[in-house]
Amino acid sequence: MPITPLRQPNGEWLRLEIALPGYSVWLRAWQVQVGRVKLYLLDSNDAANFPAHRGITSELYGGGPELRLKQEMLLGIGGWRLLAALGIKPDVCHLNEGHAAFAVLERARSFMQEIKQPFEVALAATRAGNLFTTHTAVAAGFDRFTPALIEQYLGHYATDELGISLHDLLALGRENSNDATESFNMAYLAIRGSGSVNGVSRLHGKVSRHLFESLFPHWPEDEVPVGHVTNGVHMPTWDSAAADELWTKASGKDRWLGKSETLEQDIRRVSDDTLWQFRLATSKSLVEYARERLAQHYAAAGASSETVEEAKHLFDPNALTLGFARRFATYKRPNLLLHDPERLLRLLSNPQRPVQLIIAGKAHPADLAGKALIQKWIQFIRRPDVRPHAIFLSDYDMHLTGRLVQGVDVWLNTPRRPWEACGTSGMKVLVNGGINLSELDGWWAEAFVPDLGWALGDGQEHGSDPSWDAAEAEALYERLEREVIPEFYTRNEKGIPTAWVARMRESMARLTPQFSANRAVCEYTEQHYLPAAIACQSRVANKGAFGKQMVDWRHSLDQKWGTLNFGEVKVATRDGKHIIEVQVGLHGLDPKAVRVELYADGIKDGPLVRLEMTCLHPLADESGGYAFSATVPATRPPADYTARVMPRCDGVAIPLEDPRILWQR
Ligand SMILES: *Cc1c(COP(=O)(O)O)cnc(C)c1O
Repeated sequence: MPITPLRQPNGEWLRLEIALPGYSVWLRAWQVQVGRVKLYLLDSNDAANFPAHRGITSELYGGGPELRLKQEMLLGIGGWRLLAALGIKPDVCHLNEGHAAFAVLERARSFMQEIKQPFEVALAATRAGNLFTTHTAVAAGFDRFTPALIEQYLGHYATDELGISLHDLLALGRENSNDATESFNMAYLAIRGSGSVNGVSRLHGKVSRHLFESLFPHWPEDEVPVGHVTNGVHMPTWDSAAADELWTKASGKDRWLGKSETLEQDIRRVSDDTLWQFRLATSKSLVEYARERLAQHYAAAGASSETVEEAKHLFDPNALTLGFARRFATYKRPNLLLHDPERLLRLLSNPQRPVQLIIAGKAHPADLAGKALIQKWIQFIRRPDVRPHAIFLSDYDMHLTGRLVQGVDVWLNTPRRPWEACGTSGMKVLVNGGINLSELDGWWAEAFVPDLGWALGDGQEHGSDPSWDAAEAEALYERLEREVIPEFYTRNEKGIPTAWVARMRESMARLTPQFSANRAVCEYTEQHYLPAAIACQSRVANKGAFGKQMVDWRHSLDQKWGTLNFGEVKVATRDGKHIIEVQVGLHGLDPKAVRVELYADGIKDGPLVRLEMTCLHPLADESGGYAFSATVPATRPPADYTARVMPRCDGVAIPLEDPRILWQR
């Protein structure tokens, strides 16, 4: 593998020392060359460490919260220190999930040292360069640590290194800074330490706004500052050799570079015949692969030679192949298709329209429910009447995924909405001409259009209601029996299923570019990385002068915010317009430190109205107040509008960096 120890100029292995309570852990660093990208790995398996600490980085999701906290400290703090040791000073730090969030503390700490300013200033300046991407759709997915554990592991780091109290450190990971019992949430720390936040699909953005709503009290859920960048997959990794040839003929060798604007049109020009021959060839190679792999598996398990021989002849390269492969977690409902085993068997074994099913997947070793779901499938597949029609391939990994996504006709995905934050396996079939049949969840909720695949569900959430699961299983069978199977087997005089091929072509043309890593990386670059780099550079310039200015602004707000109040409201209506004027008591606060807005809910799910009110003049009374005004069309009654005040400082993200808000009513 292209992996080497990372060495210092003098040839010694690069080592970092991280202080944990009562001892240090030494980390060794490795370098992996991934194309033109360098991937650095941190490793505690060093003879300098106590045996008990050598395994800290050995496995993911093992042990309890204490091990997890150690791992996250090594990753976040160690990760940032490694970059410093290598002389790498990135503007942008992209936190994928909250696990690495301690990096925001370490980043601020190292900047503190550089500028000799307090932590508050350093964090205000550097956070603009951090981007937090959240990946989970449920609150239980965030890592949380008890205050006692944080005190034990990070108490000294807070007071000695960051120069802040334990209370202030804990506040960064809490909803309510004064609740001494509240645990420390890594996702909250990531939010408090970042300049922007995103989810991984449109639906997940919405779900995340709901999950983080409590950090932005009194803000409408729609304005919770979490956007989305939908994931995409790296097409050249997942396409088959045959797919590569087809796309190269249609669109050239450089098609995955740049913005791929012509791909959609290019693939539309490919004939039915070419597409269908391509599909048949890839189906055939999947069937051959599955036979071989199953035969090897049987042989290794000591099965009889008849069983091994039988495996070598299973399946028909011309039959419809359904694929289902994923982690067997209960929310993925991997047994939805097994809801009515007899109906499933009838569907698979119809001699006129045979269907074959390939299943693969693993459960987490500690997930007993997930493992039980795998057992259910294995039991079903072992039945002699089922055996010719369904196989389970063990050792699910990227290689197996690769083979499956290259050859299946239909990729099934049946998660329980809205638990699939994005889901990516279905994107991997697009380039290969596979078609998705999936729950309207994650990426499919934004990708699905009727002429390029099939959908399950009503686009609503139903919790874990068993009767809804039953109804969805029913709908899944119906869709297969009435739509998918007939469309696959309805052939023209040349034996081509024209409606199927048309659907396949639309899926390839419209979805492949949209759900490719190119699109995702362009979006991250344009919407996040470049703005973050610019913002960060301007905040850290002149020894963090802007960070200092922000802290002064925040302190002046701290002093005055509690005294702000709304006074009289006047409405004048003329020429089809309402001129709305409000008085706001600022009690000495600079009117430029706040933004006064006129707000109205959207009409029928339409966009909400946010209009900045202009400061007209100071009031002649004692309140230190000002009059603000805005003009809106008189198409809505003035009572629809309400004024609100929020902090304002140019270049500062509100409400992300300061969630205060005061409503007129
Ligand atoms: C693509 C892939 C996944 C992720 O698939 P989801 O649909 O997001 O669950 C998981 N494991 C492997 C091996 C994969 O290749």
